[in-house]
Amino acid sequence: MICKKCGNDLRCKVSLKTEDSGDRPIEISYQWWYCEKCGAKYYGTLEDSSVNMFDDRVLHKGDEADEAKWQETLKLALKCPDEGNSSCTCEAHKNAPPFSVGGAAWYTND
Ligand SMILES: [Zn+2]
Ligand SMILES: [Zn+2]
Repeated sequence: MICKKCGNDLRCKVSLKTEDSGDRPIEISYQWWYCEKCGAKYYGTLEDSSVNMFDDRVLHKGDEADEAKWQETLKLALKCPDEGNSSCTCEAHKNAPPFSVGGAAWYTND
């Protein structure tokens, strides 16, 4: 992923995996991305529907984040004992986003 502001490569700090178990189950990972160069913050959402037999696609989108809100929610996310475990019941997992976000930063769908 590329920083919308300066074009630098972004880094992902935390990725919390959750699962939406409906008729068409889907894995959703909420991610905290940041730019080392200019300090911009982003939220990423990765939706993987290949866990069910109807869809097979990965949707990855990013949104610009408010710095203070990003730091605050990241603090919570860092306390998660097992970020890749969709049945984790920590605060961050329980209060998983959707966040209120700014403009879109990237969008891929393959
Ligand atoms: Zn940047
Ligand atoms: Zn957790």
